[in-house]
Amino acid sequence: MTTTAKSPKDALDKISEEFAFNTKDVKEFISLFHLEMARGLEGGQSSLKMIDSFARRPSGSELGTYLALDLGGTNFRVMAVNLRGKGEIHVGATSRYSIPKDIITGKGEDLFNFIASKLGAFIESGKLAKDKTYALGFTFSFPVKQTGIKSGTLIAWTKGFSAEGVVGKDVVALLEGAMKKQNINCISVEALANDTVGTMIAKCYARKDCDIGVILGTGTNACYPESRISGLTVNTEWGNFNKLRQTKFDLVLDDASNNPGLQLFEKAVSGMYLGEIFRLVALSLIDEKLLFASSKLARSAFEVPYSFTSEQMSSLAEGTFDAKSTSLSQMADEDFAVMVSMAKIISTRSARLAAAAVASLALWQDPKMLQKHVVAVDGSLYEKYPGYKQEMTRLIGEVLGGHAGNISFELTKDGSGTGAAVIAAVAASEHAT
Ligand code: ADP
Ligand code: MG
Repeated sequence: MTTTAKSPKDALDKISEEFAFNTKDVKEFISLFHLEMARGLEGGQSSLKMIDSFARRPSGSELGTYLALDLGGTNFRVMAVNLRGKGEIHVGATSRYSIPKDIITGKGEDLFNFIASKLGAFIESGKLAKDKTYALGFTFSFPVKQTGIKSGTLIAWTKGFSAEGVVGKDVVALLEGAMKKQNINCISVEALANDTVGTMIAKCYARKDCDIGVILGTGTNACYPESRISGLTVNTEWGNFNKLRQTKFDLVLDDASNNPGLQLFEKAVSGMYLGEIFRLVALSLIDEKLLFASSKLARSAFEVPYSFTSEQMSSLAEGTFDAKSTSLSQMADEDFAVMVSMAKIISTRSARLAAAAVASLALWQDPKMLQKHVVAVDGSLYEKYPGYKQEMTRLIGEVLGGHAGNISFELTKDGSGTGAAVIAAVAASEHAT
């Protein structure tokens, strides 16, 4: 892969052109997105699965303590969530774990045993009142064909997961099986939720005008209430949207991934992949002697796949980057400046693509953009990448002009988990009535 550039500046210009996503591209993106949404809703051939989530919007007056299990992609959390009515959610005891690589790519049984064992440890730790039964909401952030509010089968793994024997199975049944083996009897799983749905519902608990839920973390996805199917929330699985222009770097990344041809939008946008795109761009510049030309060791610092991360890109943008983190103990100012520009180009495309997809969902619901749309967003990429929200807002302004103010982004921290608790509360109250 080369850029055939003559100077670092020239190379950056070429890369910037390749990653550009201008206003005209955005308009085309939105029409293609709408076409794919329509096809997906009709059950036709589409890269957007448009899955019915079965989740109902809360009234905001649901009360009580619920448990949430949030399996994201990088993090796994168990939390006690206290719903206090009037839209107030209090997050109580929380335990956070990272999932070992051998569990992610091992046997499905081991993955669910791992999850159940952490749930067991959470109960044993004395963080909950004894002799009570708790309703639990399970946030499972992978494409699931939901068959009911507490059942659904895994369609395919994403985000580097490949645990064997889970695709095609009901993930709630797998969780309950593992809980039973470990004698966890004081918990009933009341809801299975996608993280986007959790995020939107968490915000809806307080804000009735929230009608889009977005995840920008390890992966990316979004949901919205579909009026054509009686307002049920549709999980778009937008990470798989595939009508977008790919750069040569995107093509290489996709080819080497464990799900080639799939999740193309996610691979251009989400936290798991941004560092890898950066690494591939860096390698091409190093090979052309346009980056680290004076350091023989530079190439080896970028040779391991997925060794460069979106967190490191963040620190480049923030000015806190530590060269030692790449095993390059020092760096010329010029090289540093090129890396900062590369991070800017790649993260800007990510934010603009994400915002274009948000605009697509808003315009789908409200073509003239006459109403307010609160967009609930959860995920570390959105939360922590410097200027990410501002880039998204800028694009919304370009596309919606005077109506742009009708869209507001609201960080809904932990929404993926707390929302599952709200969904469990709504489901439990429906049983009761
Ligand atoms: P999950 O996706 O597991 O629910 P998060 O929303 O916390 O969890 O997302 C974690 C991902 O976010 C990481 O894998 C990484 O890609 C990205 N990320 C974490 N911290 C930062 C940061 N400071 N800057 C940019 N990206 C980050
Ligand atoms: Mg998450």
